[in-house]
Amino acid sequence: MKKDDCIFCKIANGEIPSGTIYEDELFRVILDLGPATRGHALILPKDHASDLYELPEETAAGAMKVAKQIALKMKEKLHCDGLNLVQNNGEAAGQTVKHFHLHLIPRYEGDGQEILWNPGSATKEELDEVRKELTE
Ligand code: AMP
Ligand code: ZN
Repeated sequence: MKKDDCIFCKIANGEIPSGTIYEDELFRVILDLGPATRGHALILPKDHASDLYELPEETAAGAMKVAKQIALKMKEKLHCDGLNLVQNNGEAAGQTVKHFHLHLIPRYEGDGQEILWNPGSATKEELDEVRKELTE
């Protein structure tokens, strides 16, 4: 289902033109207009889901299949040295467009991007506590 006021619904369904690099019945993959690196692309499901929490499981699985195909294509055609898959949920995590999308960010040696986090630290007790919360 589309959401009327959602820009990625309009792009995914072809109502707004985009730099499409792949399309099938369920997904459109477009080039990000503000690319972190050369080839930065977004996988958009055609049906609206705001984020991963709302995304049907089979769409989540489908998005990863598409990611795999595009990743191989990027390696072959763009000769990138690596690739980050990034998927933001919620403003705290940096999500700015509230329609699920999976970023494919090709990486090149010395590209100057800092996409990884700063490693922190945790005690064994803290790790045990969170493990319990997540497994109870
Ligand atoms: P996020 O911060 O994960 O919500 O990512 C939103 C991404 O969408 C950003 O990387 C933007 O550059 C990109 N973006 C926003 N509007 C458009 C658009 N109309 N076409 C292509 N990419 C867009
Ligand atoms: Zn949408």
